[in-house]
Amino acid sequence: MTEFHHAAQTDAPLSEFGLIRRYFTRPARDAVLGVGDDCALLSPRVGQVLAISTDMLVSGRHFFADVAPAHLGHKALAVNLSDLAAMGAEPRAFTLALALPEARAEWLAPLAQGMLALADAHGCELIGGDTTKGPLTLSITVMGDVPAAQALRRDAAQAGDDLWVSGTLGDARLALGVFWQEWSLAPEAFAAMRARMETPTPRVALGMALRGLAHAALDVSDGLLGDLGHILAASGLGATLDVDALPRSAVMAEQPPERQLQCLLTGGDDYELCFTAPRTARAAIAALSGPLGLPLTRIGYLERGTGIRLQDHAGAPVAFTGHAFDHFASER
Ligand code: ADP
Ligand code: MG
Repeated sequence: MTEFHHAAQTDAPLSEFGLIRRYFTRPARDAVLGVGDDCALLSPRVGQVLAISTDMLVSGRHFFADVAPAHLGHKALAVNLSDLAAMGAEPRAFTLALALPEARAEWLAPLAQGMLALADAHGCELIGGDTTKGPLTLSITVMGDVPAAQALRRDAAQAGDDLWVSGTLGDARLALGVFWQEWSLAPEAFAAMRARMETPTPRVALGMALRGLAHAALDVSDGLLGDLGHILAASGLGATLDVDALPRSAVMAEQPPERQLQCLLTGGDDYELCFTAPRTARAAIAALSGPLGLPLTRIGYLERGTGIRLQDHAGAPVAFTGHAFDHFASER
């Protein structure tokens, strides 16, 4: 679209097209045509459907304006790759819509580097986008392949399924609590939790390995209770969770019990996968953990009914009144 702020742009050290060319244009690989034309061209693959997802990161809402640009570039793509992972899809390509208050090379170079390093690690190619002046916002649309019958849909969970989660939960929330001055952490512990918040690892290999094993999956971005609620609503089921089984990092395990429960159950931004699978898949799923170098933990089961029942390891009910993160319900 034509934009009517050319006077401001000539003052900027980099023009719109200069910065696209310098930082976001590379030779097309898998794509038939990449950055530079009206559209990118991507060939469909026989027997696969395209999995497509968009996630937007807004300054001051999803990240602090002064976050390291390399971390921001990584995270903007990571949260999108995480959606592909949660669908069991293999990453192929992405587009990047960028609103920038100003075009500064010292900021754009590490942003692009952080983003494209993660893209390369997953063979996911940047094929286009849009660039405009405006409040700092990154919006990525990612595309991946998955065999149609094996997509890990939220509505495919079944009563009696085991409930699993990857990695550890609540770590990003622990770091956020330090920024929000809710609590403090020792420097080393904070650094570890902050890395979980700023440079999350999308569980792409796990998602693909769960094809044909898991029934339903999603990535935990808004907190386990809220996100699990999406699977339950879509599948028309309820669940029982063993809160003692929830996987936690060493740093988490040192926190007061109340704080642990809050972070484990409602902390977002960890981008672990939560998935359901039949009991018959237990051994096969457990066997994925070693090769992936990723803990996979059974945390409960699905059942007929609605809602989530929290229990301790002995089966006694656990009271919890927190709620999941919702941009339009929250004060923050
Ligand atoms: P149009 O006017 O047709 O929308 P643009 O002038 O916005 O095209 O963009 C020119 C080319 O640069 C297009 O191929 C577009 O996909 C690509 N592009 C624009 N911004 C970005 C970006 N941030 N990252 C990657 N490609 C981009
Ligand atoms: Mg455009």
